[in-house]
Amino acid sequence: MTALDDPLEPVLGAKSATALESALGLSTVGDLLRHYPRRYAERGELTDIAGLEVDEHVTVLAKVQRVSKRRMRNRPGSILEVRITDGKHDLTCAFFNQAWRERELLPERRGLFAGKVTAFRGQLQLSHPEYQLLEGDVDQAVVEEFAAALLPVYPSAQGLPSWSIARCVRQVLDIWDEPSDPLPDELRQRFSLAGLPDALRWIHRPDGWPAVQAARQRLKWDEALAVQLTLAQRRKLSGARPARPNPRRAGGILDAFDQRLPFALTDGQRAVGEDIAAELAGEHPMNRLLQGEVGSGKTVVALRAMLQVVDAGRQAAMLAPTEVLAAQHARSLREMLGDLAQGGELGGSELATRVALLTGSMPAAQRKQALLDVASGAAGIVVGTHALIQDRVSFAELGLVVVDEQHRFGVEQRDALRTRAGEDVSPHVLVMTATPIPRTVAMTVYGDLEVSALREMPAGRSPISTSVVPVAEKPAWLDRAWQRIREEVAAGHQAYVVCPRIGDDDSDVDVADADTDDTAGSARRGKSAKGAKSGKKAAKSSESDGDRRPPLAVTEVAALLAEGPLAGLRIGVLHGRLPADDKDAVMRAFAAGEVDVLVATTVVEVGVNVPNATVMAIMDAERFGVSQLHQLRGRVGRGSAPGLCLLVSEAPAGTASRERLDAVASTLDGFELARLDLELRREGDILGEAQSGRKSGLKMLSLLRDEDVIAEARQTAQQVVESDPELTRHQGLAAMVAELVDEDRAEYLEKT
Ligand code: ADP
Ligand code: MG
Repeated sequence: MTALDDPLEPVLGAKSATALESALGLSTVGDLLRHYPRRYAERGELTDIAGLEVDEHVTVLAKVQRVSKRRMRNRPGSILEVRITDGKHDLTCAFFNQAWRERELLPERRGLFAGKVTAFRGQLQLSHPEYQLLEGDVDQAVVEEFAAALLPVYPSAQGLPSWSIARCVRQVLDIWDEPSDPLPDELRQRFSLAGLPDALRWIHRPDGWPAVQAARQRLKWDEALAVQLTLAQRRKLSGARPARPNPRRAGGILDAFDQRLPFALTDGQRAVGEDIAAELAGEHPMNRLLQGEVGSGKTVVALRAMLQVVDAGRQAAMLAPTEVLAAQHARSLREMLGDLAQGGELGGSELATRVALLTGSMPAAQRKQALLDVASGAAGIVVGTHALIQDRVSFAELGLVVVDEQHRFGVEQRDALRTRAGEDVSPHVLVMTATPIPRTVAMTVYGDLEVSALREMPAGRSPISTSVVPVAEKPAWLDRAWQRIREEVAAGHQAYVVCPRIGDDDSDVDVADADTDDTAGSARRGKSAKGAKSGKKAAKSSESDGDRRPPLAVTEVAALLAEGPLAGLRIGVLHGRLPADDKDAVMRAFAAGEVDVLVATTVVEVGVNVPNATVMAIMDAERFGVSQLHQLRGRVGRGSAPGLCLLVSEAPAGTASRERLDAVASTLDGFELARLDLELRREGDILGEAQSGRKSGLKMLSLLRDEDVIAEARQTAQQVVESDPELTRHQGLAAMVAELVDEDRAEYLEKT
């Protein structure tokens, strides 16, 4: 008797169970069966080596091409280098002091090779691979497995190759008790879906491609439906909550602001503004996403919404992802408002309110004053970082929350906000993002929000051109890049140099873009932390280690530039570890033109607005995500002079990293880039805040390719939740939701 939630140990024995648990976090029979093959190797076909990514743990089916042996230079011992090929591209596997392998790794033999992909002198390598030969004197079980037409290839880990996982899965499938199907028969028939036990069997041990297809379709459906049921429940709950209405008031602060606006609103700004105004006046909370490219004028829209709420005697909070950005927002809101922001001050307008800035690391006295203004209601507008939600800041009466730059702010944080207006009312919520969102993503990640978009740009923006600077092949181009920066500065402009790491003692801390209170962005940080760690290892180990060097750091690069290629220019440094005052001072100096070149982490990624900056060099550009690069380059070309963005990278030509950079350089179409980003991030865990490694993440469903499934599931979920909000009559579905949304999150949902 073996059920899905039974532990693995009685089935597989302690050794295998421990390996699965520690390498992949799989502890139950269900966990293992939900660890789906990443792909299938087909008999007679070799794996495409060109598609491999550095740092990935891969299993490839390849053929031995040639083998050579040499002595190590710096220490005793020998290296056996085995070149394997897919027929077109090849890969080197290096073995230390294992010359005996020469006897079995004979040219022309085929086998599975598993290990981490590294780059060494521009060549891809598999470091310390494990392998299983499929010809010669080999493990019969593996060969038999392969006699089936399709061999599953699992996401694997060091010490736990794909073929060991396959063996464990087979053992489980030999003795399991088929689980009951959570999907009602009626739904299964309506959408012609396979039963769950069949789907699980076929995904692991298919007898051909049709079985794989049927299994995938069913498993995708389950994931899509679970997500959509969760979202439908959220929408129902949050839409039903009461909110306080903020009707527009004639002759108030909003009218006064509109009268002194120095430009005409674009049609888009006006139309979105009207939708928002109507919703703010309603008795249920607005939950709206405003999407618009960098520079499309979202801030004005948000400010007008906030003023409508202030006119109704309530407060509006604006949340930014970093302290730098919060400070900048506060400053630009005050500037735009002029004397309308000088409430209670001499010379302030009669209608005026106050803009309070509240960040995690403010000096105590300043923070206390801000908190007082917020609590008393003197500050109609409160700008802060996400710390605003975490701390128990008390508002006099919070009516609206504006969240800027959504891509760092998840569904859960939004839920947390909805309880901030009081026991039984929700604030209105306006979320703003500059990352264009494909429809499927809008239906899932933002499935709890209505979506509006600003499609046109205000007049007077300049084009940005982007080039890749491939330092591996063309080192001279880097000199040219610094020269370009000198030229721009000589012409009276300014420059950014962006690095992935802060520097000094952070080599194994995940601080690539750490601002003290940046709550999300874990995927990026995870990535750079990994880079930093492997870099450390590389520094210690031998000539043959192909691990990467640590990412370039702000403090180090700034020092090098100051002494070398940019000597004589005024260089400033900005990163998340600086005290808030220093950050602010640097930003001010840069905005005032007192700093020529700002060397910074991704703290400049969002919202920073210095129109005189015309060139940006992004160092180790391959370490950043596509959307992030797009955001970053949005910092230049904000004035009348054209912008230039240089993506500096050592990634060898032809690698996936390099192709991604070429893609960013080739288009300014944010939509296209958002798609690409999604594809490359493998979508991670789109539901929750953890972007990587959560067991409950979507495994099978692709937001890019499965639009039909998502749309059908959304409609179905809506119907089910309409008639049975708590899913009490759909126990199977309720269980599916619980499996996807892990337990504390489900609890969270109930609270809101
Ligand atoms: P976003 O937040 O969408 O990146 P901003 O709101 O910061 O964009 O706007 C970018 C710049 O364009 C700001 O300087 C803003 O004052 C200006 N702007 C906004 N709307 C208009 C408009 N309708 N006409 C002209 N300039 C505008
Ligand atoms: Mg903005």
